[in-house]
Amino acid sequence: MKPDLFQAPDYYNIDDLLTEEHLMVRNAARDWVKKEVSPIIEEAAQKAEFPKSIIGGLAEIGAFGPYIPAEYGGAGLDQISYGLIMQEIERGDSGVRSTASVQSSLVMYPIWKYGTEEQRKKYLPKLATGEFMGSFGLTEPDHGSNPGGMTTNFKDKGDHYLLNGAKMWISNSPFCDVAVVWAKNEEGRIHGLIVERGMEGFSTPETHNKWSLRASATGELIFQDVKVPKENLLPNKSGLGAPLGCLDSARYGIAWGAIGAAMDCYDTALRYAKERIQFGKPIAGFQLQQKKLAEMITEITKAQLLALRLGQLKNENKATSAQISMAKRNNVDMAITIAREARQMLGGMGISGEYSIMRHMMNLESVITYEGTHDIHLLITGLDVTGISAFK
Ligand SMILES: Cc1cc2nc3c(=O)[nH]c(=O)nc-3n(C[C@H](O)[C@H](O)[C@H](O)COP(=O)(O)OP(=O)(O)OC[C@H]3O[C@@H](n4cnc5c(N)ncnc54)[C@H](O)[C@@H]3O)c2cc1C
Repeated sequence: MKPDLFQAPDYYNIDDLLTEEHLMVRNAARDWVKKEVSPIIEEAAQKAEFPKSIIGGLAEIGAFGPYIPAEYGGAGLDQISYGLIMQEIERGDSGVRSTASVQSSLVMYPIWKYGTEEQRKKYLPKLATGEFMGSFGLTEPDHGSNPGGMTTNFKDKGDHYLLNGAKMWISNSPFCDVAVVWAKNEEGRIHGLIVERGMEGFSTPETHNKWSLRASATGELIFQDVKVPKENLLPNKSGLGAPLGCLDSARYGIAWGAIGAAMDCYDTALRYAKERIQFGKPIAGFQLQQKKLAEMITEITKAQLLALRLGQLKNENKATSAQISMAKRNNVDMAITIAREARQMLGGMGISGEYSIMRHMMNLESVITYEGTHDIHLLITGLDVTGISAFK
């Protein structure tokens, strides 16, 4: 792979709106990605392996629990710093960002928000350092966009719960130490349970043959009469709103992360277009290529402003789920469009692993599908503005 020459576009001087802390956190993550992710990521993706060697570094830049209070091992940062960290990691690779998103927003967040003090103290510090890696089990083979239909269930057996069912498409599953699993009780109410590797009847087979997020491990979570101690139930929130609350936090991070992937594709295409000579001049001098670049930087700038405003609303606890859906949908669509255009600008070189663009493009096919598909987020906006559900 080519040396990482990334220079972040900031067309509207958005850095001027960031605090010193934001810039410090962002720059530390940016430097770390350049040094530790860029040199190894192409090979990891080609081999379809999550590079475990970077777990310690992810913890050091605050990617595991950026906004979780320091007393539980988190970085105690605000929502904009969280977003900036996700942006920088996804600039490197959406698969690596997925691992960080799951750990922070889908595992640490529910334990912090819905768990007991004992659960927080037992799990959060180890998740923050990466000593424990987590996964989040919501999706099932027959229930993806409609998770409320889940059939994974648990029964009260007096001194423990008995868990049965299966989850699929679960990021981090093959190597997770703990899984936050959503299942129905005997009354059909959804609860979160912390399942630990080693519990009898719990297995995590890996899903192979992915053309997307190849540097992220994906798999199943299978529960066959798993005895889960009663103290592993997350007691402080139940119902579908509990997992959806986690998804809000992760989707917010994705809205920022997608900007990172888009910035990397734009920056690569811009540099290439200035250097690549055809018909006696750089291809950057042709109007058709300039149209692509001009539209890319316009869309990136709009996405940056959307994410920043959403971050302000999140910091004030005012961001709605529908606002988060809009940003996730818009920014991922923006990134995948830019990746496809940038790939064309590199001609044949665009499909080569020498450059990051094709990897970003394929990764974004998962990002536009997980955490609510592109169409589902549109329906959320439609419901929000009309008051009428078009889901069923
Ligand atoms: C790489 C990867 C990692 C993932 N990681 C996780 C994870 O860690 N944890 C987890 O729980 N899940 C995870 N997922 C699952 C992901 O969230 C689901 O794939 C996603 O929610 C879509 O569900 P589905 O694949 O079952 O598609 P379906 O729900 O079957 O949807 C298929 C199509 O139908 C459309 N559709 C569905 N319902 C409607 C409707 N009412 N109106 C109009 N169109 C509709 C959808 O938009 C989509 O285009 C991951 C997925 C991938 C690919």
